[in-house]
Amino acid sequence: MFRLINHSGRAALVVDGQRFDLGRLAGDELLSDPMVAIERHGELHALTVRCGDAVTDGPVEVAALLAPIPSPPKVFAIGLNYRSHAAEANMVLPSAPMTFTKFQNCICAPGSDILLSGDTVDWEVEIVVVIGDRCRNVSLDDAWNHVAGLTLGQDISDRTVQLTGQPAQFSLGKSFDTYGPIGPAMVSVDAFEDRDNIELWCDVAGDRVQAGKTSDLLFPIAQLVEYLSSICTLEAGDLIFTGTPDGVGMATGRFLKAGEDIVSGASVIGEFTNRCVAGTGPSL
Ligand code: ZN
Repeated sequence: MFRLINHSGRAALVVDGQRFDLGRLAGDELLSDPMVAIERHGELHALTVRCGDAVTDGPVEVAALLAPIPSPPKVFAIGLNYRSHAAEANMVLPSAPMTFTKFQNCICAPGSDILLSGDTVDWEVEIVVVIGDRCRNVSLDDAWNHVAGLTLGQDISDRTVQLTGQPAQFSLGKSFDTYGPIGPAMVSVDAFEDRDNIELWCDVAGDRVQAGKTSDLLFPIAQLVEYLSSICTLEAGDLIFTGTPDGVGMATGRFLKAGEDIVSGASVIGEFTNRCVAGTGPSL
């Protein structure tokens, strides 16, 4: 197993809270590029073993953490993928994964400030799949073999922008700069006791607002990879935000306010905190 972070722009492995710069550890400067490290994720297991005898580069500094996948070629996100969330949104269950995109500009560091675009900005904690190699028409049985690892994300959404238009198009309302913090690490799939039952939670201003587990996904991770790859060629570093459990603000009319902290967490992957600050809204 391995735990991969982006520390000040350089890929590093984490063992017992200590970081090991991949370029230095492997003697291969190419591996210090986080996107190259994801493409070559198969090498990271053996390199993690080597950390046992290696000199550390120091402890993980939370303020130095950047998005573990800083420039994903594609960012898919799945709506209404938990029954509980579909119910609170008063939506019928989708017959196929309800897919939209978050544009790459929104992907940011796990500790990034969230620049609020208005007074209807909402939280959605989600497990995020990181694709490990170029693939197409992947079968259900083979799907996990094309996953480099899992990370955690916040699918921050401006509900007004998201739901404007007839029919509404979700992508822009979920793509304001800073609306996609991910991290704190990408963890290999074998680090999870049950890769299909991962707990995730979200606290806003100290209140536990979301708590779920991926065993409740309507379309589980393997099925998402099968489905998306039946339409698009997937690439190493592509992300899939897999959907959010119930407890979003829209259901009760509570939205994010400047000064509030969002804490997002998942078992094995860990937690990150985002401070909400005032930003600017759309021109229309
Ligand atoms: Zn979402």
